[in-house]
Amino acid sequence: MSADNNRNYHLFIDGAWTDGGGDWIVVENPATGEGCAQVAKASVADLDAALEAANRAAPLWRATSPWDRSAILSACAREVEARRESIARAITLEQGKPLAESLLEVGRTVDAFAWCAAEAIRVYGRVLPQREPGMRQMSVKEPIGPVAAFTPWNFPAFLPARKISAALGAGCPMILKPAEEAPGAAIIIAEACAAAGVPAGVLNLVFGDPAQISDHLIRSPVIRKVSLTGSPQVGRKLAALSGEMLKPATMELGGHAPVIVFADSNLRKAAAMTAAFKFRNAGQVCLGVSRIFVQEAAFDEFRAHFVDCVSGLRIGNGVEDGTTIGPMATGRGLARMDRMMADASDRGAVTEIGGSRHGNGGHFWQPTVLTEVPDDALIMTEEPFGPIAPLTPFADIADALSKSNAVDLGLAGYLFTRDLETATRVSDGLEFGWIGINNFSPTIAEAPFGGIRNSGFGYEGGPEGFDAYCRTKFVSQASL
Ligand code: NAD
Repeated sequence: MSADNNRNYHLFIDGAWTDGGGDWIVVENPATGEGCAQVAKASVADLDAALEAANRAAPLWRATSPWDRSAILSACAREVEARRESIARAITLEQGKPLAESLLEVGRTVDAFAWCAAEAIRVYGRVLPQREPGMRQMSVKEPIGPVAAFTPWNFPAFLPARKISAALGAGCPMILKPAEEAPGAAIIIAEACAAAGVPAGVLNLVFGDPAQISDHLIRSPVIRKVSLTGSPQVGRKLAALSGEMLKPATMELGGHAPVIVFADSNLRKAAAMTAAFKFRNAGQVCLGVSRIFVQEAAFDEFRAHFVDCVSGLRIGNGVEDGTTIGPMATGRGLARMDRMMADASDRGAVTEIGGSRHGNGGHFWQPTVLTEVPDDALIMTEEPFGPIAPLTPFADIADALSKSNAVDLGLAGYLFTRDLETATRVSDGLEFGWIGINNFSPTIAEAPFGGIRNSGFGYEGGPEGFDAYCRTKFVSQASL
């Protein structure tokens, strides 16, 4: 059983649910600050059991034909869809985002399984042009082997699903350690995968001490690939360990996305779109906008529209109807907002709206807009991952690019303009892996997604996301 009536979540190892050694981690509801569930803590013996299960499953899963793997992934999509409501409720309860946002996340989760089901039968190699008569030379793709994967709490359904669906589609078993802060969604997804026919040992879920788990799994010879979605700080540690063990790694790390609004834009629309995107999931989105640059001539008008939109947001518990911004997921996030706000105020920033915590319980922070924020303020240089939006004027394209590229994080960048030449020059000049022109590039299953610079390396989504779980073998064949 994945969870009992007291919401005790279990580990999933070798196709069975287990409570590990009996140690538990409390899961907090960020809207109330109270415990709402607990999740089992894996012991070293549990991790070894997961490694053994993945190792045993690897040759069987690899030998399962891509068509059969594809059929199982399609069934996963249907089983996840059938659990739509319970996954969305778990996300909102444990992570805080409004229920409507959680339902959208489950939709993207279903998409990931459905798209990978289709892609699993298209993992082609190449036949090379013949050099000599009688020779056949080709490159073939094979599953890379068992994967250790780690995901954060901000999209607790979609981020695990993106890794599970591509790895399993490519023929690799996985040991996944989702975030202990919001484990419920991944647990229900594992249930769905088991119901869909994913064989025992192909997908394993563990929770516990993150540093101990990552160290134990990555050092094991069973693990052939590491995939992390998380912060640059943890990325550095896991990339270093993967390097020491000579294991390939995909690092999907944090961002500090700029949006550049040119004066020729439809300012009202740009402001409404930017406000909606910025405050989604209380600003805790890796792709979310965290620096807003507006051309000088349009600054005052954009600010007025933007503040107007922000004043219309309704802060509250994500399960309540009408809530458009929920709490921050953790007390750590709230403390970070306190620190960034105090730093900006000390440096002379002007608070246009918001600026402090909200309410007497839970981790609520008011949606906040700041102006006159100096370039060296913390909020401009460190990933805020929260609901504070700094607005800064810029002069021209060169100024906008230099301000946008000034931070060494390269995940996403956006711009609004009606001028084709401006759009081309700015998108060429932005040093980010994910660009949106007059839109905030929706995360679609078929698109390659990956950061550059300190935002990491490697891709998820699209054929590139499948490649991450494949290795290439060259075969040269002659006749005797
Ligand atoms: P985090 O880096 O603290 O944790 C990410 C995962 O790594 C968790 O499961 C955590 O438990 C685990 N972990 C493994 N080894 C660890 C170790 N030695 N120490 C600590 N944790 C370890 O990230 P977070 O706070 O959960 O999430 C927020 C960060 O994730 C932000 O920086 C955000 O931008 C980033 N993020 C990136 C993407 C992306 O696709 N690029 C998507 C979502 C979030």
